[in-house]
Amino acid sequence: MTVIQWFPGHMAKAKREVQEKLKLIDVAFELLDARVPMSSRNPMIDEILGQKPRLILLNKADMADEAVTEQWIRYFHDQGRLALPIDAQSGTGVRQIAAAAKEMVKDKFEKMRAKGIKNPRPVRALIVGIPNVGKSTLINRLAGRHIAKTGDKPGVTKAQQWIKVGKEMELLDTPGILWPKFEDEDVGYKLAVTGAIKDEILNLQDVAVYALRFLSTHYPNRLAERYGLDDIPDDIVALFDTIGRRRGCLTSGGAVDYDKVADIVLYDIRTEKLGRLSFETPASRT
Ligand code: GDP
Repeated sequence: MTVIQWFPGHMAKAKREVQEKLKLIDVAFELLDARVPMSSRNPMIDEILGQKPRLILLNKADMADEAVTEQWIRYFHDQGRLALPIDAQSGTGVRQIAAAAKEMVKDKFEKMRAKGIKNPRPVRALIVGIPNVGKSTLINRLAGRHIAKTGDKPGVTKAQQWIKVGKEMELLDTPGILWPKFEDEDVGYKLAVTGAIKDEILNLQDVAVYALRFLSTHYPNRLAERYGLDDIPDDIVALFDTIGRRRGCLTSGGAVDYDKVADIVLYDIRTEKLGRLSFETPASRT
């Protein structure tokens, strides 16, 4: 996992770099985390991408609550945008991308044909998204081979190359890396819970408190089942205590080790021990 420190200068540079790349492409693939589509979105994305045709890809859909992902697809559809659920790691849904991209730029290519260009070039695409959303995984998946990851830092450049994806699409081999909307505390916690930002950045116990509160409200049965709880205490310390005792997270003095509880809960969430989870819905979006 990589950490990027985003300072205002870095953000401005990242935006410029993406906009430079936009000149080369027909369609942008906006990669979002299906579990947190709004929190994993760059706050300036509309301004950055402008009128460029855009396909939204809800990645890591394998880990997200399917019913909630459906809601998000409808939400984007209502905004006039096509969103496809994908799992870049296993490849599920990835085959649909080229066809959808082609459809999006149909008019532009029709015009090229009308001007007498008989064999228009492949559709050119760029992946954009925040760190750890799965950009490299998707590039490798579309390429069908391993493409070396460039330094995950805005400003680290190398000669760009086109990767062939079938006969009809080409993808820029370096993605556009954008910053998340982290000035919002809620967003920060959601990104931490899903592993998009490093654990060192936020206090682990705070992140676990956030996660346990969320699960108590939205997935109480899963929580109860996983940790063998008869009922879920309203009091968060009591919940930590109960889980800690159940899982034997005790200090040598016999007190509950809260750091250990936090570790276990976050590990369990990230490894799907609590099942497929989504941390925001269109109705709850921030
Ligand atoms: P990047 O920083 O956007 O290039 O993100 P990476 O491609 O490095 O992916 C970050 C992490 O997410 C890696 O551990 C990947 O294995 C994982 N990952 C990427 N796509 C998926 C997916 O669709 N499903 C799951 N479960 N994990 C994924």
